[in-house]
Amino acid sequence: MIPGPVEFEPAVLAALGAPTTSHLAPNFIEAFGQTLERTRQVFLSESGQPFILAGSGTLAMDSAAANLVEPGDKVLVVNTGYFGDRMGDILERYGAQVTHLRAEPGDHPGLDLVDEALRKESYKAMFVTHVDTSTGVLADVKGLAELAKQADALVVVDGVCSVAGEELRMEEWGIDLAFTASQKAIGVPPGLALLVAGEKAMAVFRARQSPVANYYADWNNWLPVMQAYEARRSAYFGTPAVNLIFALNVSLQQILEEGMDARFARHAALGNACKAAISALGLTQVPVRDEIAAHTMTAPRFPRGINGPDFLAQVTRAGVVLAGGLHPKIRSEYFRIGHMGAVKLSDILGTIGAIEQALAASSCVYPKGAGVAAVMANLAG
Ligand code: PMP
Repeated sequence: MIPGPVEFEPAVLAALGAPTTSHLAPNFIEAFGQTLERTRQVFLSESGQPFILAGSGTLAMDSAAANLVEPGDKVLVVNTGYFGDRMGDILERYGAQVTHLRAEPGDHPGLDLVDEALRKESYKAMFVTHVDTSTGVLADVKGLAELAKQADALVVVDGVCSVAGEELRMEEWGIDLAFTASQKAIGVPPGLALLVAGEKAMAVFRARQSPVANYYADWNNWLPVMQAYEARRSAYFGTPAVNLIFALNVSLQQILEEGMDARFARHAALGNACKAAISALGLTQVPVRDEIAAHTMTAPRFPRGINGPDFLAQVTRAGVVLAGGLHPKIRSEYFRIGHMGAVKLSDILGTIGAIEQALAASSCVYPKGAGVAAVMANLAG
């Protein structure tokens, strides 16, 4: 129950373990073509251009920056934690002049601050992390996108901890580029970076004055490949991750069978139940207000006086694996629960039960059974 890699569906793992075909084989061409079409549907972007690359989420970040930014471009990063910092570092590597709008860990820069920043300076793009996995803070992507549109800045969303879990409507909300990685709510083992670029992002890319300063991630190399496979033809730039793409095709089909609205609602319901249980056990959370807390993960603070690593070892002993802190300022003060992808009620109950057992084993005073009861009450109500 860490925030990625998550647990995977048996059919996805079976596709991953099937004999590897040639990347030019008719069955792979069909699967890759379907995968590209389904990616567009999952991102809710009918006219977007998908890119599926072998690499982790950081490659998606790298590819976004390399292809959209040119030296000297001014870029605004709405920063809610560790991954906002990383995005800024990558953008600077490509010569961007980066302004970070930061908040204390657990908070986010409000829309008023972002609006002010966008009025003060003209930015080529605004980069926002939808859910910063280091804090569990959920950005108001819809509201931020509206502001950036008014300021004529591109809107780029790091959806690594959100796509296919949190509500994200790329076209409707006016998002120009969104990206994710396979190992989270997309439900496929690590190894794929997924991006969808809207028409404006593609136009900005085409109008570049300078070459893309990254060879592997250059969309000039990948666009013909993506277009060919979608037209059910093969093309080559770098060997695609054949088995991961077969697995992704299965997972995307399952996601679309569930339906995007139902999927957003399931993540919201289970996420809210998990948070209600954590509060019922007397633990506080890193996000400072409920409305800015993600639904794909929960970031509880350790009870006072508890040794974090010992506590997490007790949770593991009770059968559930959780993650420690990640934000450098507060790393030792909290832990992280991922609940995305194929997550079910029984996973939340098992996790909360294991946390209760760890509280008991750590001699904490807590309301026994209150966590599990809160999960049930929250879902029933
Ligand atoms: N952005 C966010 C919000 C993430 O959570 C992560 C990974 N946890 C990344 C980017 C980077 O992805 P990866 O570890 O797959 O490179």
